[in-house]
Amino acid sequence: MVHCLGKNPKMKLKIMLVNPYTHATFLKSAARVEHLPSDEGFEVAFAGRSNAGKSSALNCLTGIKQLARTSKTPGRTQLINLFSLDESRRLVDLPGYGYAKVAMKVKQDWQQNLAHYLEVRQCLRGLVLLMDCRHPLKELDQTMVDWALNRELDVHILLTKSDKLSRSEVKNTVLKVRKYYQLMEEFITVQSFSSLKKEGIEELILKLNEWFAWPVP
Ligand code: GDP
Repeated sequence: MVHCLGKNPKMKLKIMLVNPYTHATFLKSAARVEHLPSDEGFEVAFAGRSNAGKSSALNCLTGIKQLARTSKTPGRTQLINLFSLDESRRLVDLPGYGYAKVAMKVKQDWQQNLAHYLEVRQCLRGLVLLMDCRHPLKELDQTMVDWALNRELDVHILLTKSDKLSRSEVKNTVLKVRKYYQLMEEFITVQSFSSLKKEGIEELILKLNEWFAWPVP
């Protein structure tokens, strides 16, 4: 993967962007925060409404087709799934929220679990929040952002399924969401993403790399 830096096109510095996420391996599933591995190292969590495209984005990022499949297994959807990148770095697949057919009590339990994770997990460096680009900024998405901001956690919003809109509609949606959070721009970044077209992966990798603070080779 080649990434270009610099504003002058003639002076563009081309660097090879290595994707360290292709080494992700399933580590464990945890029903509650207390069951997670010890709170050390670096974690970046992926969250979003159910059906926002989280599993597809994780599979697309890592290039591993079935990586996030475990979260889809009936009965395991409420689990926090962890994927190891190295001894100290983990990707975290948080349970999808907002699924209409789930009982209120179960929904409340999920929310408590999510809120608890975001509140107490010290090794958490950032939250990737996925929203379908056709329906961004739903109430629960904003609740997630509020929980993250409460502890000054960086949020990177992925506006998913960008292939479903025209280029100009995608651009306008990105601008709209950026504008919505412009007072918090120090903490919130926004990009479009398509797992189907494999668009937006480089931008996502750069953000994750920043949060994971990979040592310079
Ligand atoms: P999750 O519930 O958030 O894990 O969502 P999934 O990754 O399972 O995706 C939900 C649905 O959206 C599936 O039917 C996917 O095929 C579809 N989907 C996911 N990403 C994309 C995308 O980038 N483009 C399109 N067109 N469909 C997508």
